Amino acid sequence: MNAGEAGEDEASRKELRPYKVYAIEEGVVIDHIPPKKACDVINVLGALEGDSIVTLGVNLDSKQMGKKDVVKIERKELSWEELMKIALIAPDASLNIIKGHKVVDKLKIKVPAMFEKVVRCPNPNCITRHEPVDTKFHTVSERPFRLRCHFCERVFEREEVSLI
Ligand SMILES: [Zn+2]
Repeated sequence: MNAGEAGEDEASRKELRPYKVYAIEEGVVIDHIPPKKACDVINVLGALEGDSIVTLGVNLDSKQMGKKDVVKIERKELSWEELMKIALIAPDASLNIIKGHKVVDKLKIKVPAMFEKVVRCPNPNCITRHEPVDTKFHTVSERPFRLRCHFCERVFEREEVSLI
C-alpha cells in the first residue's frame, strides 16, 4: 500500500462518521446530553423495560458542547417526573418530539425550581432518611448546579445527590 491509498482509506473512514439513527414514527429524541451520560438517561427513564426501539449515540461531535450524547426512544412521552430526572442528568438537554415520522416540537429542558420525590438527601441525619417523607429539593443555582434539601436545609452539589 502506498501513501496515497492510505490517505484514501482515512477519507472513507471519515465518511462513516455521520450519525445515522433508525427512523421512528413516534417518540422522543433527547439531544445535548453531556458525553457518556446517555446510559444514565436511558436508565432513569426505564427505556429498556418495554420493547421500544432505543438508539443511543455517545461522544458525538457538538458545536455547542464539544462532545455530546443523544438518545432516541420510540413510543415515549415524558412525564413531569421524567423531565425532572433528565434535568438532573442533562440540564442543557433539548427534546425533539416525533409524530408521524416528523419532528413536531422542539423543547429545551428547564431546570425546575423544585425537585420533588426524585432525589435522595445525602445527609444521614435528615428526616427523609428515617421517616417515610417525600424528598423535596430547591434549586439554589444552575451553574454550578446546587440543590438545597427542604427538610434539613443543607446545600449539596449536584454530584453529591443521587436519584431515587
Ligand atoms: Zn435533607
